[in-house]
Formats: sequence, C-alpha cells, structure tokens
Amino acid sequence: MIASVKAGPYTIRGVSVGGVYTSLHVPELDVLFDAGIALRSTAAVGTLLLSHGHADHIGALPALLGIRALHQKKTPLRVIMPAEIVESVLAALRAMSELQRWPLEIEAIGLRPGDEHPLRKDLLVRAVRTFHPVPSLGYVLVRRVPKLRPEFARLTGPEIAARRRAGDDLFETADRAELAYATDTLIQAVDHAPELLASKVLMLEATFLDDRKSLDAARAGCHVHLDEVIERAPRFTMPHLVLMHFSQVYRPDEIDGILTARLPADLRARTHAFVAEGSSWPG
Ligand SMILES: [Zn+2]
Ligand SMILES: [Zn+2]
Repeated sequence: MIASVKAGPYTIRGVSVGGVYTSLHVPELDVLFDAGIALRSTAAVGTLLLSHGHADHIGALPALLGIRALHQKKTPLRVIMPAEIVESVLAALRAMSELQRWPLEIEAIGLRPGDEHPLRKDLLVRAVRTFHPVPSLGYVLVRRVPKLRPEFARLTGPEIAARRRAGDDLFETADRAELAYATDTLIQAVDHAPELLASKVLMLEATFLDDRKSLDAARAGCHVHLDEVIERAPRFTMPHLVLMHFSQVYRPDEIDGILTARLPADLRARTHAFVAEGSSWPG
C-alpha cells in the first residue's frame, strides 16, 4: 500500500492518489507533506507542511494527532500552512477536541509566499505561491551552509586557522535548495517560482497524464497535465523529479509505461512515479 521512492539522498514514503488522499514522509528531513491519510509510521514526525485545506490533503489531521498521542510525544506537532487557513484549522481541531474530550494540539505556523521558517539549525522552509481555487502553498526545503568568502578561497588550511584565531570573518552562508513540493496547482507555479526547478528533488503533482483528460479540463480543475511538463522539459534539469497525485483514471501499474512513452528520454531517466506495486490504488 505504501509507496517508497529513493530520490538522491532522500526517501519519500507514503500514499498519494489525486482527489483521494496524499501524505508523503521524508524521514531524512523529518518532514511530512500533507495529511490526507494518517499513516502510523509518520505520526512522530517533527514538522507537517500542509499545501492547502482540501480534504484529500488535510482530512486525516485529527487521526494523525490521535496516533501521535500514542507515541507520547511531549511537543505538539509543528504544522506549517497557508496563513489564510490557520484560524479554520484551529477551529476544526477545537471541535474535534470537544468530541474526543481530549486536546488535539498543534503548533500552528501560517506562511505567505516568500516567507521562510527555520526547521533546524541548517535547514529552513521557504513558501512559494501555487495556484488552486483555495489558499495554497508550495514549499522548498533549503539547507543553509557556511561557505568561505571568495576572497579567502585560495587560503591553505593553516592560513584559514590563523585568520580565524585573529578574528577575521571568513564565512558567508550559501543556500542549497534540497527538496521542493508543489501539488494541486496550475503549472504556472514553476514559472513564478523557478526555485522549484532548481531543487535537487522536485515533488510535483501530475494529476493527468494523457488525453483521457484534456489540457483544458486539467487546467479548469487547477491541476498539472503531463503535456505541460513535456512543454517545459528543457527547464526540468533537476537531478530527481518525483511525480505524484495521479488521478484514479490511470491504473498505478500503467503509469511508468505512460511516462516512458511520453517524456523525453533524458528527463524520463530522472523521473520517478510515486506509486506502489500492483494494479489497484491503495484502499
Ligand atoms: Zn489533491
Ligand atoms: Zn486541492
């Protein structure tokens, strides 16, 4: 039932079926993208990043918090989401808490496009604009690493040590976009936020894959059609593209074949279909 993809240094585990449920765990970064289904193995995660408030992405949040309570985690789950939905999410959790006579607590953090929030000392999340009929966000996880200033790049090890002892400020920081997530959006998200394409790994929805759904119909629902990825293939230079949120119109075991038939060979070689083995969708 659970799909697992290894994309460079990162493992992506979870379930994603367009319109049904999506929840993707990246253990190396201790983040979970969306909570459309509550998977036992993801409940102790450090940070949940919500793309938007549609039920297939947020519907299982109370269940996830319930499972988390069994883990006896001391801290409430940190939940990052579009700023516009914070109040509604908190109100929904208050209602569920009342039903259960048990508090479903989170640390709610609302972001707007362009905002950043630190996740750990060397890792931050940057929100980017996505295009859907409800408030929504994409996310780029950025590693911020110290880098020798260019004027000191030619120094030897002992010289660097000596300068440090003398109190010289030798380092600046460099940002490396590690992993990005954009779902439930028009493809224009990648045009407005090219940093999505500059990430080592891009997890992108491709709800529709061929003419079983027309481009116009895909756009009307604010979803990505594979035709639009093919159009932009020269700009899709990231080492790993993970396509997900496929429509149930397709069987999971035919998706690899469709990608091979339709994507340019070079991009196909870097593309992973986020599906589990088998001919039917989970559940
Ligand atoms: Zn969706
Ligand atoms: Zn949606």
